[in-house]
Amino acid sequence: MTWDMRRRGLPIGVLLASAALALGACVSATTDSATSAPAATSSSSSSSAVESPPATPSLDAAEELDAAEESAEVVTPTCTPGESLTEQPEGPYFTPGAPERMDITDGAFGTPLTLTGYVLDDNCEPIAGATVDFWQADGNGSYDNSGFILRGNQTTDANGAYTLTTVIPGQYPGRTEHIHVKIAPSGGRTYTTQLYVPDSEGNNRDRFYVPGMDIAIVSYDGSAMVATFDFVLPA
Ligand code: FE
Repeated sequence: MTWDMRRRGLPIGVLLASAALALGACVSATTDSATSAPAATSSSSSSSAVESPPATPSLDAAEELDAAEESAEVVTPTCTPGESLTEQPEGPYFTPGAPERMDITDGAFGTPLTLTGYVLDDNCEPIAGATVDFWQADGNGSYDNSGFILRGNQTTDANGAYTLTTVIPGQYPGRTEHIHVKIAPSGGRTYTTQLYVPDSEGNNRDRFYVPGMDIAIVSYDGSAMVATFDFVLPA
């Protein structure tokens, strides 16, 4: 099944199964505590409602459910010691000096994509304070080469985590969907690479594509995608 088939609206269960297969042995896992949380919160809120209905019982329940759903989406870093990212060419469209921000969309055309993950060292230890600089084409395969639409850098937090709000890039001649990235640990050298969408029909035609740089799709319903990728830097 190709990613374009997913775009035409296959059931989410099929998509998630496919995503899990794509992840293989290094699949991201939700935490056990997260999966048990909804049942516990549901039980406590229903019993309090029977005893003495509070003024806003549904709000409390909704907040608890939201918290449980958020925690269920937390993924653990995927890293195998000694296996690091594949460095890739910068390409012709990098613009230095992009603004510091996590949301790089600026209203750009494309299907919303939320990409999260970690920057880790070769021993799978998180790297806090690393600069992660993203740039990419919009959903039509066009770059903003005069401004900074779909360009931005951010710094990893204390856990080495980053969050990128963007759109799924489009293909352009010779290239499949891809997101360019430069990662620069504080005081270290800069690593340049590119991320890809697994199972895109364009991947086989792209001479730069490498399967190891596929994002891991967590969910995709045809109108928005959530995905993860952990950058493991070479020693
Ligand atoms: Fe490019």
